[in-house]
Amino acid sequence: MAKIGINIATGSLQKNEMIVGIDLGTTNSLVAIIHPESKGPIVLKEHDGAALVPSIVHFGANNLVSVGDKAKEFLIEDPHNTIFSVKRLMGKSYKDLKDHSSYFTYKVIDDNTESLVKVQVGEKFYSPMELSSFILKELKERAEHILKTPVTRAVITVPAYFNDSQRQATRDAGKLAGLDVLRIINEPTAASLAYGLGLNKEEVKTVAIYDFGGGTFDISILRITGGIFEVLSTNGDTYLGGDDFDREIAKYCIKQWGLTETELTVNKSLVQELRLTAEEAKKTLSGAENYSGIVAESEVALSKAQFEALIRHLVNKTIHCCKLALSDAGLTTEDIDEVIMVGGSTRVPIVKESVGNFFRKKIFDSLNPDEVVALGAAVQADILAGNNKDLLLLDITPLSLGIETMGGLMDVLIPRNSKIPAKTGRQYTTQKDGQSSMRISVYQGERDLVKNNRKLAEFNLTGIPGMPAGLPKVEVSFLVNADGILVVTAKELRSGVMQSIEVKPQYGLTDVEVEKMLLDSISQAKEDMQMRALVEAQTEAYQLIQTTQNFISKNDNFLTKEELTKTFQAIDVLNVIVLYGSKDEIQKAIENLNEISRPYAERLMDDAVRVALKNRTI
Ligand code: ADP
Ligand code: MG
Repeated sequence: MAKIGINIATGSLQKNEMIVGIDLGTTNSLVAIIHPESKGPIVLKEHDGAALVPSIVHFGANNLVSVGDKAKEFLIEDPHNTIFSVKRLMGKSYKDLKDHSSYFTYKVIDDNTESLVKVQVGEKFYSPMELSSFILKELKERAEHILKTPVTRAVITVPAYFNDSQRQATRDAGKLAGLDVLRIINEPTAASLAYGLGLNKEEVKTVAIYDFGGGTFDISILRITGGIFEVLSTNGDTYLGGDDFDREIAKYCIKQWGLTETELTVNKSLVQELRLTAEEAKKTLSGAENYSGIVAESEVALSKAQFEALIRHLVNKTIHCCKLALSDAGLTTEDIDEVIMVGGSTRVPIVKESVGNFFRKKIFDSLNPDEVVALGAAVQADILAGNNKDLLLLDITPLSLGIETMGGLMDVLIPRNSKIPAKTGRQYTTQKDGQSSMRISVYQGERDLVKNNRKLAEFNLTGIPGMPAGLPKVEVSFLVNADGILVVTAKELRSGVMQSIEVKPQYGLTDVEVEKMLLDSISQAKEDMQMRALVEAQTEAYQLIQTTQNFISKNDNFLTKEELTKTFQAIDVLNVIVLYGSKDEIQKAIENLNEISRPYAERLMDDAVRVALKNRTI
């Protein structure tokens, strides 16, 4: 039965609360929902207003914060207090940004080059996460105003190359804005969903998503198999976008008018006006052959052909990135089934043409390119609301996940580059008689010894009933869900005692750290292998000593005095060699102890078999 509530604030009937889809862009952000009647995705806009909200935050006098178009007006006039391109700062340290410091007109700082950046506005410091939360709050309030109902749950999109800390920062920004972020999804995945790709379970497709926005260019190659999206490769240029087209036009005009640098630095309003006019010219030329306008009594006249000549080198750059993405995925243009156009800059005809000529494939461009990511986020939100249960999103684990076993060895349960969601389990047992608890330590990394990897979590499985060593069956299972959250469960199968823990696997690891851990594992591979062999020999030795001692204490009256003496001697030798010997020396001592115990072990075994047979009638 459907539930109906009344919204006390607005007095309106409240339907099942909507989950919104949000495209939190570098240049523009927007919200989309699934239309309750048509069931198709739509973007939210005020009556005849625009759907796009410029991703800009302005801090005015008296702590007055404005977001969007209102904030955009301050870009030139009040550059130190007008924060744009916050998305570029998410999860970054100053070191990551120092090559582009001239790009930011506001103050980007940090305590040291390693830690995450903050933005200084007057006396205050804001993290990129906080700044993003201002934008998300504005979007949330707009949506509530349009829908006339509270909006508390959202799906937010991020670039496919965002690492875990950038995703986490985006999620936290949502939380700070009062949103429960149900899922973070990749922008190219969202764009595919908007075109209905992946909604058919039988479908297998390889698609290229060409996303040319205001300040960034991304190309992603996705494989869609039975409703699962897998990122095969990504490439792009984080400092190439439609803004560069505007800059080319502005440079062209300045040259035409014969203005000098100094004339420009003193005349800020001219620069602002020129920037806006350049963007207007560009947009006009997406649908017309000529543009003419006036800036400060000077004429701006530009034909489409002239404009194309100005930006051709930039478009060629993006095509080069497409080539790299294909070769990273091990594919050629032949392998691509469809190409999806995303981002406002793909409205430029020469961009569309170049992409079409390069891929020679069907181009999806019927939806507004600057809305398609938000539309797809709304489709995903609808799936999460339970309206399309079968769809999964697929990501990949960057590093192996495993647990510590005897001797500090890493036992990998989910290898790196596994597709998620992923689930696997393995059985372990106890080392000591009557052992009632087992420590499960979870690690991430590629090295053979856990001490060289990164510890994620640890817990104790307690309450294992007393049993001889080796008898309990403890199944440890790893489940990485679609959000990248790892759940580790340990269960003793004979008694049913169980314990589990939730871990965020890659939290806080930067791309650089992941890369370093991988490189380390390669350069140390040989050493690791030797170390592993040694640890394995040591473990085997300890186990042999323990079983031999157990055996003797139970059967000592069946053994000769000589056998006992020799065995104890061999155990003593092994006990020393296991501490100081090499792998081969340990193995030799193990073999020696085995040689000594084999005759009586066999003899007693025969006796046991004889006894057993005597009591049975054949
Ligand atoms: P982002 O993904 O970076 O947030 P968008 O996808 O909204 O940004 O793209 C913004 C860019 O698209 C801006 O540079 C804007 O000038 C450009 N743009 C928007 N409409 C047009 C158009 N009709 N023709 C050319 N460029 C356009
Ligand atoms: Mg975008």
